[in-house]
Formats: sequence, structure tokens, C-alpha cells
Amino acid sequence: MRIDLHTHSRASDGTDTPAGLVHAAAAAGLDVVALTDHDTADGWAEAAEEATRVGIELVPGMEISTVHRGRAVHLLAYFPDPAYPPLAAELARILVGRAARVPTMVDRLNRLGVDITEDDVRLAAAGAAASGRPHVADALVTLGVVPDRTAAFDRYLGWGRPAHVDRYATPLEVAIRAVAGAGGVSVIAHPWGRGGPGGPDEATFAALQELGLAGLEVDHQDHDADARGQLRAIARNLDLVVTGSSDYHGVGKTDHDLGCNTTAPEEYERLTSARATGTSGAPHPG
Ligand code: AMP
Ligand code: FE
Ligand code: FE
Ligand code: ZN
Repeated sequence: MRIDLHTHSRASDGTDTPAGLVHAAAAAGLDVVALTDHDTADGWAEAAEEATRVGIELVPGMEISTVHRGRAVHLLAYFPDPAYPPLAAELARILVGRAARVPTMVDRLNRLGVDITEDDVRLAAAGAAASGRPHVADALVTLGVVPDRTAAFDRYLGWGRPAHVDRYATPLEVAIRAVAGAGGVSVIAHPWGRGGPGGPDEATFAALQELGLAGLEVDHQDHDADARGQLRAIARNLDLVVTGSSDYHGVGKTDHDLGCNTTAPEEYERLTSARATGTSGAPHPG
């Protein structure tokens, strides 16, 4: 059983269509793949149809943009009902924030002497429910300003770079509760990614577990062997589910090939049963 629980399609900042991604997942020899676009369930229906066609198990998911103690935290949510009002309201708020920051980023770039328009970004984000910095990066690549997404982040869009613009993100605790209320299970994506340790510690994970957090994404390309070892030990202490995944973005991210990290079948089983028994958190009142 090969299980990959974190991938992106064109519904957010991946470069494959949802169907294309599922097709590629089957071709890569995966048995289970989760579609976890940023802040949207938009790709689910198309992905599910293709999953039935090619005979692979599709886990409907999303990666929610949250904030915890001033730090961006990505929360993977599996099987949530995206129409559950508290969750739907947060997703809508994030998507509005995503759309609203595009003109600001374009304006910043223009002031830096880069000739880019909102239309260039719209074209790069065609079909995406969740627009993001990667689409601005893609527009910059198309315009010949930078060679690839990474260069666009390094020069302009990354944190602390001149065209970086903040946007709304849901408080992490609110997101975990909303996912639990929506019948889903939540896992913190790459908890110590990019920033490295300095992310949430064991006591913090324990407090979040009380709210319904079910697991930690331990095996991720942003974690070195040391971070993986420490996170695995914390998960074992707290009895949190351990997941591993690719965070595949199509050609949008190198070194994130489908199945480059996988989740053990027994951990996946614990995740799905947490959902079935509702132990992923207290049900919402009413
Ligand atoms: P956003 O959610 O719009 O703020 O953009 C964040 C997304 O940009 C992440 O989910 C990554 O997929 C992508 N990203 C962040 N840093 C980089 C980078 N250095 N190179 C390529 N993609 C990146
Ligand atoms: Fe992304
Ligand atoms: Fe992420
Ligand atoms: Zn991701």
C-alpha cells in the first residue's frame, strides 16, 4: 500500500488538473492519494471521477492557511464537509484575502520596475479557486523576469522580500475546531518546515490535540532527518498519527514527486478511524 496524503492541483497552486493529478498518482503506483489544495474543495469532484476511472482511492482534503502565535501554519484537513458553515465562512474569508492581495503585489512589483499586470496573474491562475503567490511567480516566469518560481520567491515574493504581501489566515485553534465540527480530521502540515525548529513544540501540539488535532506530517521534504526524528518522537509520546507525503505541486515545485514520502497503512487506518469515531474533536454544539 502506497499512500500520499498531500498534493496540489490547479484548483490552487499545482500545475496538474485535478484529473491529471489523480491519473499521475495511479501511474506513480500509489494506492491512496489525497487532494489537498490550499483553502478549497474545488477540485474534489473532478478528482473523484478520475479516481473511480483509474481505480485509486481518493481522500478529499484541503490545506488550510492558518496562523498561530504570529506564525503561518498549514493545516491539512481530511474529509471535512466544506459546506459546514463555520468552515465555509473561514475558507471564504481566506479566498477573499487571497484575491485582494493580488493587486497589491502587482503594484509593489510595478514600483520595483517590473512590468506586470493583474491580467498576467489572472491568466497564470486560470481555473484556480485559490490564487496565490505561486501564480504571481508563474506570471513573472512567463514575462521572462525570472527563470522559475523559486527565483521569484527569492527575489520578490518570499517573506521579507519587497513584493511580499500578507493576507488573512484563520487562527489555528478556530480552524481545528471548524474541521472537527465539519466531520473531518486535521493534521499539521510540515510543522517545522522552512522556518525549522522554532515551530510549535510538544506542549503546543498537546494543547492543539485537546482541540481535535489528530496528527503531524512528519515525513515531508522540508524536514531533515533530525527534524523527522524529533517530530516522530513527539507524535509517539502524544499518540498523534504520523503522516508522510509529497506536497506535490506538478512542475511548480521540484523535489516533491508523487510518493516521495508516504504514510504507513496503519497510520492511515488510525486517521480514518479517528474520523469515523469522531475522536478528532468535540462535535460542534447544536
Ligand atoms: P501563498 O499561500 O499564496 O502565500 O503562497 C504560498 C505557497 O507558495 C506555498 O504553498 C508553496 O507552494 C509556494 N512557495 C512558497 N515558497 C516557495 C518557494 N521558495 N519556491 C516555490 N514555491 C514556493
Ligand atoms: Fe502551495
Ligand atoms: Fe504547505
Ligand atoms: Zn501543500
